[in-house]
Amino acid sequence: MISLVDVVKRYPGVTALDGVTLHIGAGELVAIVGPSGSGKSTMLNMLGTLDRPTSGLVRVDGHDVGALSDAELSALRAQRIGFVFQQFHLAPGTSALDNVADGLLYTGLRPAERRRRATAALHRVGLAHRMGHRPQELSGGERQRVAIARAVAGEPRLLLADEPTGALDSASGAGVMELLRDLHAAGTTVVIITHDREIAGSLPRQIRMRDGRVVSDAPGPGRVRAEAAS
Ligand code: ADP
Ligand code: MG
Repeated sequence: MISLVDVVKRYPGVTALDGVTLHIGAGELVAIVGPSGSGKSTMLNMLGTLDRPTSGLVRVDGHDVGALSDAELSALRAQRIGFVFQQFHLAPGTSALDNVADGLLYTGLRPAERRRRATAALHRVGLAHRMGHRPQELSGGERQRVAIARAVAGEPRLLLADEPTGALDSASGAGVMELLRDLHAAGTTVVIITHDREIAGSLPRQIRMRDGRVVSDAPGPGRVRAEAAS
């Protein structure tokens, strides 16, 4: 699904990624962990084609990112990749339904079809009763569910989440994690950056970063448990 080969990303005065090689297969559920400033978000931006490397190779779903134009990358993202962020990034003053439907603007679908898919996505995240609510009328956990509905309304093969539970209380965070696990169980490849050791430890694979490098990449207890049970 995704390969990074010797990826370097430099900003003026900072090497955010210092030679990362990594392969993530279709259908995986992966945690990315590491201290603040270790390059986690920069790496997620590479996986999501939101940014280009200074050097090295990025392949996403069979496409060599370096060989695609910005317009082609936008199309790739719109069709294949969903994003979820810590701070939700919802449009204020806009209903949950429109927030999700507007996420499909770049798919070329007609407005009625966008609303139909948005409705289905909000049902999927358990927010059928909150479609007309605006973000400020929703709890943090509900806002993140809207953001997840927006991310998955286009049925992406890949879902990337940057600290999705970081702004939530533990009960809402657990609900959001359950939703991400459900999406993974339904076949989506899911990559989650998290500071939460318990969450990271419960996922089948943990990639640990430090100073722009991958310092360990190992099955977590989640996989060990799953294998013991099978
Ligand atoms: P993490 O998500 O692990 O906290 P980041 O990937 O956000 O780390 O950042 C890694 C390093 O790159 C940090 O030193 C950060 O300050 C730097 N960095 C990230 N984005 C930019 C940017 N747009 N411009 C300059 N420096 C950046
Ligand atoms: Mg970050």
